[in-house]
Amino acid sequence: MQLSGRFGPFGGCFVSELLIPALEEMESAWLAAREDSAFKAELDDLLARWAGRPTPLYRAPALSDTIGCEVYLKREDLLHGGAHKTNNTIGQALLAKRMGRTQLIAETGAGQHGVATAMAGALLGLNVRVFMGAKDVARQQPNVRRMQLFGAEVIPVESGSRSLKDAINETLRYWTETVATSFYVFGTVAGPHPYPSIVKDFQRVIGEEIRADLQAELGRLPTAVMACVGGGSNAMGAFAEFVPHPEVRLIGVEPAGHGLETGQHGATLIAGRPGCVHGSISYLLQDDVGQVLEAHSISAGLDYPGVGPEHAWLKEQGRAQYVSATDNEALDALSWLCRNEGILPALESSHAVAAAMKTAGQWQAEDVLVINLSGRGDKDLAHAISAMDARGGVA
Ligand SMILES: *Cc1c(COP(=O)(O)O)cnc(C)c1O
Repeated sequence: MQLSGRFGPFGGCFVSELLIPALEEMESAWLAAREDSAFKAELDDLLARWAGRPTPLYRAPALSDTIGCEVYLKREDLLHGGAHKTNNTIGQALLAKRMGRTQLIAETGAGQHGVATAMAGALLGLNVRVFMGAKDVARQQPNVRRMQLFGAEVIPVESGSRSLKDAINETLRYWTETVATSFYVFGTVAGPHPYPSIVKDFQRVIGEEIRADLQAELGRLPTAVMACVGGGSNAMGAFAEFVPHPEVRLIGVEPAGHGLETGQHGATLIAGRPGCVHGSISYLLQDDVGQVLEAHSISAGLDYPGVGPEHAWLKEQGRAQYVSATDNEALDALSWLCRNEGILPALESSHAVAAAMKTAGQWQAEDVLVINLSGRGDKDLAHAISAMDARGGVA
C-alpha cells in the first residue's frame, strides 16, 4: 500500500493475504482517479444529471424557532435513491469500471446499500451480486424486490446471526475467489484501508456543498454540523470539509435504541471499546471476552456494531463529539418534522434531528446549525407507524 490507512491508532488493513493485492490495486486506481479530470467530470456529470446534485440546503423555520438558532437541513433525502448512499455507489462503480471489473459485489443489511449498488450497476452496465443475511432477506422484502428489479442477484447468507456482519464476512470470502473480475462496493467509511478514505472522498461532496451554500447565503461557516452515525459515511461526508476548521463543532449522533442503560442499542463510540472487525481497528460493541455484540436500533441503517476508524480518531482527539438519541426520541422527531416542516425523514436521519432538538436553548440566536438529513423516510413508513401505534399513537 502507498498509504497506511491509519487514523491515529485506528484503521489499517487486516484482511486475508489473498485480498491484499486487490486492495492495493484499488488504492492505486483511486489515487490516480482522484487526479484525473476526466474521471471527476464523468462522476460530477452523473451526480448532477442522474442523481440530482447539488441537493438543497434548506433553512428550516419551525426547527429554527424550536431550537433557538438558525437551523439548516442538508437535503440528502432528495438525492436519487432517497439517501446519501448513491454518492458512494456511483463513485465506486465508476472506479470498478476504470479498473476493468465486470461485476460489483456488495453486502447489505437493511437493503439500502444493496439497492444503491444495484442502481449504480444498472446505470453503468455492471453485473451485481448482493449478499444479505437471511434474516434481513425475510424482513426487507421490498428492498430485495427493488434490487432484483434493477437486475441484481440477491444471495441470502445463512451463517452466524444471519444479519449484516455475516453478510460482510461472506462478501469478503466470495471476493477472495473472484478478485480478478469483482469489485467489492463497501457501504460505509469502515472496513480495511482504502475503503474508509475512498468512501469519505465520495461523500465529501455533502460538506463541500454545505460550505459553498452557507458562504453564498450568509458569508460564514456553520457553528456546528450534526449527522447520524451508523458506520459513519454520511457524517464523514458532512464533516470532512470542516475538520480543518476547529471553530466548527462536529456532532455525531448514535442510536441509543431502547436506552444506553438497557444494553439494547447501537452506540458504538459511546459504549464500545477499540477492537478489530471487518479488516480495521476501531470502536466496536463487544462483550468482556471480545465477542462482537449485536447492535439494536429502530432504524436498520444504524444497526452496525462497528464504526468508521476516522470517527474513533476524531472522538479520541476531541475534534468531534458523539451523542445519542433513543428509538422513541427518533420517532418523535420523525413525526415532528412531518407536521412542522412537511418533510418525512428516514429513521436514521431522525436521530440527528432528535439530538438537535435536545439542544434547544443552548445556542445563540445567530448560531448556524446544519443537520445532515441523510435520507427520506418513505422506506420506513410501515415500520415507523407500527412502532407509533404500539406505543399509543403519534407523539
Ligand atoms: C445507511 C444509512 C445511514 C447510515 O449509514 P452511515 O454510513 O452512518 O451514513 C444513515 N442514514 C440513511 C438514510 C441511510 O440509508
